[in-house]
Amino acid sequence: MADDRKTTEERQRMTDIERIRHSCAHVLATAILRIWPEAQFAAGPPVENGFYYDLELDHHISSDDFDKIETEMKKIIKENQPFERVVVSRDEAIRLANEGQLGALGPRPMPSKFKLDILRGIPDEEEISLYRNGDFTDLCAGPHVMRTGNIGAFKLTSIASAYYKRDANNPQLQRVYGTAFKTRAELDQYFALLEEAKKRDHRKLGRELELFHIDEEVGPGLVLWKPKGAIVRKELQAFISEELGRQGYTEVFTPHIGKLSLFRTSGHYPYYRESQFPPLIEPETLAKFAEEGCSCAELSNRLMKGEIEGYLLKPMNCPMHIKIYASSQHSYRDLPVRLAEFGTVYRWEQSGELGGMTRVRGFTQDDAHIFCTEEQVLGEIQGCLQLVLRILNTLGMNSYRVRVGLRDSDSSKYVGTSEQWDRAEDALRESAKNLGVPFSEEIGEAAFYGPKIDFVVKDVIGREWQLGTVQVDYNLPERFGLSYVAPDNSARRPVMIHRAPFGSLERFCGVLIEHFAGSFPAWLAPEQVRVLPISEKHLEYGRSVSGRLLDRNIRASIDESSDKIGAKIRLAQLQKVPYMLVLGAREEQAGEVAVRSRKNGDEGAVSVSEFVERIQMEVRERQRD
Ligand SMILES: [Zn+2]
Ligand SMILES: [Zn+2]
Repeated sequence: MADDRKTTEERQRMTDIERIRHSCAHVLATAILRIWPEAQFAAGPPVENGFYYDLELDHHISSDDFDKIETEMKKIIKENQPFERVVVSRDEAIRLANEGQLGALGPRPMPSKFKLDILRGIPDEEEISLYRNGDFTDLCAGPHVMRTGNIGAFKLTSIASAYYKRDANNPQLQRVYGTAFKTRAELDQYFALLEEAKKRDHRKLGRELELFHIDEEVGPGLVLWKPKGAIVRKELQAFISEELGRQGYTEVFTPHIGKLSLFRTSGHYPYYRESQFPPLIEPETLAKFAEEGCSCAELSNRLMKGEIEGYLLKPMNCPMHIKIYASSQHSYRDLPVRLAEFGTVYRWEQSGELGGMTRVRGFTQDDAHIFCTEEQVLGEIQGCLQLVLRILNTLGMNSYRVRVGLRDSDSSKYVGTSEQWDRAEDALRESAKNLGVPFSEEIGEAAFYGPKIDFVVKDVIGREWQLGTVQVDYNLPERFGLSYVAPDNSARRPVMIHRAPFGSLERFCGVLIEHFAGSFPAWLAPEQVRVLPISEKHLEYGRSVSGRLLDRNIRASIDESSDKIGAKIRLAQLQKVPYMLVLGAREEQAGEVAVRSRKNGDEGAVSVSEFVERIQMEVRERQRD
């Protein structure tokens, strides 16, 4: 509480639901004290999706205790106790804490040690307030709901351990988590959603459907795309590429490493070195320093100062694309130049933050850089947004919003003139408006080098995912001295736009796995069709059918096992194959296939060519099922 104390103003911003949840934390503490009066409480804030309260207690609370605690909590809510705010002097608060009365139901033999410590951290000028409900008194700045009865519905969810003030030198506390809502229906809906999210977890589905693998020996946060996952990625990449081509982008390839000096010019090194893999050093340099007995610390110091050269695994693609732009002369007639690359970059994420495909150390961005004139910024931003919307709509992600990150009033920290900024910010705002996309303006969220747009999409179960950005940049063209020849023959500076609207293919595929719950539409499905002969008598026919499909570039396979047809169907369904073709005597005689779709089940028999036509159209049009 004291280590990341909120200002009174920040507290007043607590939303209604946060008030309910935080008030529920007080009810939780009251209930625990009724059962274990000796419990020592520390902090109990609202958090995303719920609340917790940290406490010290000899009894180890487990989920087996939840029933007992919840029963007590229900009583307290039924008692409809008012939450009463009392302002006390510092001395009075200290006296109460020493008597064990804070975070307690009354005086106790031991002082309320954590509350005492939190008290010491409250600045002198700040008012000290207590909150009372029934017999329970807590040191708290609030705010709360009016009465315990205002807590509509709640549930304890889990237990964890946490060091007091997140410091391993402090005592380890028990953290009881719970959540609360205004109504029972909202609570039920929340848990149903959680259940659904668990089923859709891309780490679980990625393993079950053999899409990707992360291997400790390869390294945490480094994704291995298995054959089936590679198909999904390739199809997605091809789709994006097609759209890029339509919008006049040209694709390039650049290496995974580049000289440190390049990243010094761009400013990525050494300023962002905390989030990069350390530099690579040439063998000769390394040998020379080993001979001189140079220490590691010295080496890293000299690298940072630029006294020795090395290479960096690229954390960004921009400097490479800039070098491509700068490698030829440009006139205003050539602009905009739009360079796109599925460029793999490497960033050093803390290992605790890594997870599945969404937080990784190596990832491939759907990156592009646009070099244009001031006047072209609006049109280019608009183009970027259109591209994103087209792709999201195709994928059935029809709910999205954008956040426009603008500068704040402190003009000294921004690169570029205020006229340029006004123009770029207007362009971002205009583009969002013109497309009719819901957007919010966030003052102070711009980077020092330019304003930006972030994309947030909602998946089918209503969860929001932050994807990538479109960013205007006045800084890098300056640092690299980029230019183009204007109509009056003078050399002008182009504006640069960075855009990686989906962030990375890893993250985006992770989001898509969850969005589709692994049931990819036919165009993305690793296996589009599975041929299921009813018995081995029809194997030959089955092979000829799957052969015809493969000839037409349809990703088909045949189940040649001796399993019963029911089992074959169940397996294909479990592996989320969009189409199953069931083949028996009737189908073989008529030269037909009995189509079974993942979504609708039995769809009746058609000729092989009719089925081929149908699925080819579905894939070509990138239909969803
Ligand atoms: Zn409180
Ligand atoms: Zn960039």
